[in-house]
Amino acid sequence: MPELAEVEFYRKQWDAGLRAKILSVELHARKRVFRGGKTRELRQHLTGSRFTESSARGKQMLFRFSGGNWLGLHLGMSGTLRVEPAEFRPEKHDHLLLRQVRRALVFRDPRLFGRVRFHHGKATPPWWSMAPEISSADFNANYVAEFLRRHSRAPIKAVLLLQHGFPGVGNWMADEILWRAKVAPAKRTGALTSTQVRALRRATRFVSSEAMRIIGRDFSDPPRSWLIHERWKAGGICPRHKTPLTRGTIGGRTTAWCTKCQPE
Ligand SMILES: [Zn+2]
Repeated sequence: MPELAEVEFYRKQWDAGLRAKILSVELHARKRVFRGGKTRELRQHLTGSRFTESSARGKQMLFRFSGGNWLGLHLGMSGTLRVEPAEFRPEKHDHLLLRQVRRALVFRDPRLFGRVRFHHGKATPPWWSMAPEISSADFNANYVAEFLRRHSRAPIKAVLLLQHGFPGVGNWMADEILWRAKVAPAKRTGALTSTQVRALRRATRFVSSEAMRIIGRDFSDPPRSWLIHERWKAGGICPRHKTPLTRGTIGGRTTAWCTKCQPE
């Protein structure tokens, strides 16, 4: 499932079409990615408009078009954004295509867990996330401590996955953050020490910015010293201790951790 940095990578693919006009819009209106949304308006308003701006917050992307038109995209489990030649014919899983003179901007999603939303209006859409980005100054110690306090009964692993608190953090990033902060994933959030809360914020910032720099740029792999390489492989070991990782389900998600780095 795409997380922060993968989303950034895909967002930038469509930037190839910035400043160019949309000649036509082709879409599979009945597919679940549209959730019965305003596909007719989407087609009418975007046709003839110009693609002016793109941004991402966590796992959500927002594309702006002239005339007060906004397209929200969420990649779900298997969505991708790609750029194809101008004469490209959409295939079965290409649920949205914006055709320009020189290229076609395509949203493909075989498993249909992604989402396409449309908004027409001067201001950003009401559904556009307001959670502070992890890289922003608002993601400060007070914000993190307060968010954790409001979810004090849940295991910390589950809280790290809440998109309105940690936008863009998914399963692998959460495990990487916990391992670096030396916090056991099942630990009740309210039982964290202030030192652990500080370590979690630091690790969240570090993993996010490094993932954006390394994966977000060209889909390169993080360094070998990261937990991500060991998480799923048989006999996966802690990169620090070289001892086997423990696995279990926490907050409904498969989790890997090192009992030496992250004692209960
Ligand atoms: Zn370890």
